Amino acid sequence: MAKLFDPTPEHAALRDMLRRFADEQVRPQAAAHDRAERFNHDLFLQLGELGLLGVTVAERFGGSELDAVGACIVHEELSAADPGFALAYLAHAILFANNLDKNGDDAQRARILPPACEGKLIGGMAMSEPDAGTDVLGMSTTAKREGDEYVLDGAKMWITNGAISDTELGDVFLVYARVAGAARNELSMFIVEKGMAGFGLGQKIHDKLGMRASTTAELVFDGCRVPLANRVGPEGSAALHMMRNLELERLTLAAMSLGIARRSLELMNAYARDRKSFGEPLNHFGQVQRHLAESYAEYMAGRSYVYATAAEIDLDVPGHRLDSDGVKLYCSTMAKNVADRAIQVLGGYGYVGEYEVERLWRDAKLLEIGGGTLEAHQKNMTRDLSRLDSLR
Ligand SMILES: Cc1cc2nc3c(=O)[nH]c(=O)nc-3n(C[C@H](O)[C@H](O)[C@H](O)COP(=O)(O)OP(=O)(O)OC[C@H]3O[C@@H](n4cnc5c(N)ncnc54)[C@H](O)[C@@H]3O)c2cc1C
Repeated sequence: MAKLFDPTPEHAALRDMLRRFADEQVRPQAAAHDRAERFNHDLFLQLGELGLLGVTVAERFGGSELDAVGACIVHEELSAADPGFALAYLAHAILFANNLDKNGDDAQRARILPPACEGKLIGGMAMSEPDAGTDVLGMSTTAKREGDEYVLDGAKMWITNGAISDTELGDVFLVYARVAGAARNELSMFIVEKGMAGFGLGQKIHDKLGMRASTTAELVFDGCRVPLANRVGPEGSAALHMMRNLELERLTLAAMSLGIARRSLELMNAYARDRKSFGEPLNHFGQVQRHLAESYAEYMAGRSYVYATAAEIDLDVPGHRLDSDGVKLYCSTMAKNVADRAIQVLGGYGYVGEYEVERLWRDAKLLEIGGGTLEAHQKNMTRDLSRLDSLR
């Protein structure tokens, strides 16, 4: 299977480097940042030093220009140590940097991407609204052209990296909005930067179930003035940017699920081997064996699907929605179930923070909602399947 998961020596070296980094730097800080609901900015900057903040961004704009398999390796390994931190990373590297790299013009890329790849700017993407999530084309944020500027009005909800502390905005966002009179699917996308008049932090959202090491915020645009040069692509063309970027987003969210499942499985396996009940290790009992064996088989099925899909994806060419939705549909629930079984196998210890699996279980649930709900994936996939007469 190594050929599927690490198809080249470079992929294998990337995984080794990430696993060491995750074990030494990421896992030790995870519980404290989860408890404090705090984003680890210093650790984020270390990812910049490793060249990972623009993992898929062109080298000439400061990125590492890795392929989809490379992006999956990074997300899987970071998530195995700290899914909350990995989510903040994904919002920056995939939702923001990859999106701008693939859809922006050279002037926008040259100005924004090098500092974003170093971590001097923290980015995010703002699509969801208080009243429009799954029905994203129903968004109501508007953009009105006034001379050489657009004026944005509205609010965006649930924005990862929207704030980097309780009071401080993130630095730069790709914001989707509709120009007055445009059709439902004619969205436009703008680079909105901290400091622009009329752009503010509505609220940092507290008390999330999981992914607490990533910040989530409401962003407010109140007559926010954005220069024409910050419009990404032609007016009305951004629904395509969105759909195209969602493919890599869903694939890397599925890779995050793999990290959660793997770590849960490692912890449950070790515990079932070491803990005795009725004079025997737990893994001698059939019911516990079922938890272990089914988790391993499901994890391997999901991992194979993720890396087989990643190998097919050319980041410059859209058209993989069936499987980018498919991997997230399968792996998000798989990871939640594996983390759930890990809690069950650890018994009372599984239910408390010190033993990690309860955090993994809380973090896993988000992946059934963020980046598209399970129901959205089912809807998209059924639509794509209905166009096929036979399967390859
Ligand atoms: C921690 C976190 C981080 C996030 N980060 C970001 C981010 O960085 N940027 C961003 O733009 N968004 C972000 N989101 C938003 C996320 O993408 C949305 O929450 C998600 O798309 C669902 O939208 P909603 O919450 O409005 O739920 P709704 O769309 O209101 O859905 C509620 C329920 O109804 C179901 N439903 C809705 N329509 C249908 C239908 N047609 N058929 C069947 N069922 C349906 C849904 O599946 C769901 O179960 C984040 C969310 C969270 C919780």
